[in-house]
Amino acid sequence: MKFDTVIIGGGLSGLACGISLAEKGKKCAVVSSGQGALHFFSGSFDLLGYIDGSEVESPIQALSSLNKEHPYSLIGVDEVERISNEIPAFLNKTGVKITGGNAKNHYRLTPIGNKRPTWLTIDEYITADDSFNGKKLLLLNVAGYLDMPVKFIATGLEQQGLSCDVDEISIPELEKRRENASEMRSVNISKTIETIGINRIADAINSKGNGYDVVLLPAVFGWNGNEQFETLKGLVKPMVKTVATLPPAVPGVRIQTLMRKYFQSLGGTILTGDIVVGGKIENGKLQWINTRNLEDEKLIAATYVLATGNFFSRGIAGAPNEIYEPIFGLDVNTKACRDEWYDERFFNPQPYMRFGVSVDNNFRTLKNGKTIENLYAIGSVLGGADQIKEASMGGVSLITGVHVAELISKR
Ligand SMILES: Cc1cc2nc3c(=O)[nH]c(=O)nc-3n(C[C@H](O)[C@H](O)[C@H](O)COP(=O)(O)OP(=O)(O)OC[C@H]3O[C@@H](n4cnc5c(N)ncnc54)[C@H](O)[C@@H]3O)c2cc1C
Repeated sequence: MKFDTVIIGGGLSGLACGISLAEKGKKCAVVSSGQGALHFFSGSFDLLGYIDGSEVESPIQALSSLNKEHPYSLIGVDEVERISNEIPAFLNKTGVKITGGNAKNHYRLTPIGNKRPTWLTIDEYITADDSFNGKKLLLLNVAGYLDMPVKFIATGLEQQGLSCDVDEISIPELEKRRENASEMRSVNISKTIETIGINRIADAINSKGNGYDVVLLPAVFGWNGNEQFETLKGLVKPMVKTVATLPPAVPGVRIQTLMRKYFQSLGGTILTGDIVVGGKIENGKLQWINTRNLEDEKLIAATYVLATGNFFSRGIAGAPNEIYEPIFGLDVNTKACRDEWYDERFFNPQPYMRFGVSVDNNFRTLKNGKTIENLYAIGSVLGGADQIKEASMGGVSLITGVHVAELISKR
């Protein structure tokens, strides 16, 4: 099979890159072996929240303080600003609705009630900046659902000067899920709501929400689209907002579904559940790749993009004495001595969190120090940033994905 570009990995970065290329008329395929980190999504995309442990107010102003290996530094401050300005409209086209901007971070409320600085938050979520002072709030859980720690969230809201009452709704079909503890999870609740109809949930909320201005619910609505929550808003008398839950994250699953559908609507091909196992590098170029399912067929493209994620998705792997990139054996910015991989103090920055694939200034990968001219890397497989500590995760994925699509389309 022949394509202009084949992207390895269908998480946030791979899909952002694929959509951007398909919009430019490129024939593009995404091979993806599994779920990706979006299934653990908090409801907010981070651009840059901290530098050396200090909180950042304006991510754009702080970009120039990053080290030169950081993916944002490789792109350049002006380009990061331009692309991050365009991302809300880019996401909106796919059906992902968000609020926020790059000039100033806002605060999201974590599933355990803490405040964290962030860039863009899904519309339906309560943020810590929402002005609910003087309003009557009800935190309403689904009976038996344990992945929204109600007490923590109520305490978190109290710390922001907001007091709320706590209650729960109970519906027989959802009660049935409680027979098996592992069934009472957000995505299953979302699917049950789809079966029984959102009107039943709205009735239950209305029966409890009388006299309240705002009802806060766990984010369990619409695993495959926005309609469920949009309909709910019209059916419930008080304002409704959602609160991030512990994983799996229904909004993350929804984002992946919406981005996939949009990519396919542009003519993109997705090979789901397949895994790239290797390829041939010759004359400084990747000539073809092969996958586990397509044993006798090679995938051939002018350009390839590695978007396989970090340790979490096995884009980077570790052995007792080695950190490596498992598909092509690409160069990784690891440290030779194992003792330098980690800091014994658990809460200190951990060097291994900065490990990832090394790239040149144009995001092309290297093997044995030599550039592979047509194999790019994007997203959390890249080294040079501690994306969790500095809260830059979603931003690095979206921005490198779009930037590399632009580089490829100019070739
Ligand atoms: C637990 C967790 C929670 C997070 N929460 C947030 C958050 O709330 N906000 C935020 O901004 N960021 C968050 N992030 C980070 C953010 O989700 C990631 O930075 C971003 O989604 C990473 O996207 P990615 O495409 O680089 O990698 P991933 O999402 O990891 O996707 C990589 C994909 O590549 C596939 N793959 C791997 N190897 C192969 C192969 N050989 N062949 C084919 N496919 C392959 C994987 O199956 C996976 O689907 C979180 C990360 C983690 C780990």
